[in-house]
Amino acid sequence: AGYAKANNLPYVIFDNDLLTRKYEFNLLGLFPNALKEDQTFLMYQPVIDAQSNKLIGLEALIRWNSPDYGLIMPNDFIPLVESTQLIHPMTEWVIRKTIQTQNLLYEKGFKFYISINLSIKNIKNPGFFDRVIKIIEEEKAHTDLLIFEITETVLLEEKKHSKKTIQSIKDAGIKIAIDDFGKGYSSLTYLSQFRTDFLKIDRHFVSHIVDKESIKQIIQATVKLAHQFNLKVVAEGVETLEMFEEAKKLGIDYIQGFYIARPMNEDQILDWYKNFIKESKV
Ligand code: C2E
Ligand code: MG
Ligand code: MG
Ligand code: MG
Repeated sequence: AGYAKANNLPYVIFDNDLLTRKYEFNLLGLFPNALKEDQTFLMYQPVIDAQSNKLIGLEALIRWNSPDYGLIMPNDFIPLVESTQLIHPMTEWVIRKTIQTQNLLYEKGFKFYISINLSIKNIKNPGFFDRVIKIIEEEKAHTDLLIFEITETVLLEEKKHSKKTIQSIKDAGIKIAIDDFGKGYSSLTYLSQFRTDFLKIDRHFVSHIVDKESIKQIIQATVKLAHQFNLKVVAEGVETLEMFEEAKKLGIDYIQGFYIARPMNEDQILDWYKNFIKESKV
């Protein structure tokens, strides 16, 4: 009897896929309100010059503090949001918020780059760039201190359209970084085809910078080529002094990673910076 009963359960409790899908469905349903109610917030992670140890800028990274689910990291909700049109208001929110933060810091004499991650969907969306221009004007952005980060897959998929969009971004005075370089399919041909300014080497690649000879060689060759096209190369995910020293040796220009600083909220930036210049003695 027990056997039959067990087989007659009205639903399957341990179907993880189903639970995941239900969870994702809930998250998506909650997201529009999250944006409106400022449950999303930005953290900022420093990028420094490997040679001089001077601060170059910050990268804005979104998080979602959900009253229902707690703190949710971008990798757990951005792919979902990207599967809908919500990615446009989200990115526009990030851009506006970043500009506001940058302006506040700027008034206090803190004049550094801040970079913003764009999604492939944003680049493909015809009205996106016009809306960005409107935000820039409304918020009186220092466009010369803004960087848009784009992953290379974006460039691959929609070459003609992305070329045009990148051109418009550049015309607005904003700089472009190729993000996550080395992750998935990589092609050095973009370096010559797109007018980009920074190349960010993916964290998973950088994680082997000390122990894998082949990775070192690839990074060194990438740096050389990038420099020929006047791109500055950033190593992401530098977690130790050894990695920092190795990146420097291989010619990497800029460093980002927990070794330098973790992402922090807007209020922590100035204190962090004061401490940073005191300690680095530059
Ligand atoms: P990303 O653009 O490559 O950003 C760098 C990620 O690496 C961040 O994760 C950062 O916290 C993490 N990181 C930095 N240094 C280290 C390190 O030394 N060790 C380790 N283990 N991790 C490090 P985060 O904030 O979780 O963001 C993950 C990804 O989510 C980002 O990768 C980006 O692709 C996406 N993302 C974040 N914010 C936004 C956003 O506003 N818009 C869009 N479209 N995507 C975003
Ligand atoms: Mg990024
Ligand atoms: Mg990114
Ligand atoms: Mg990256």
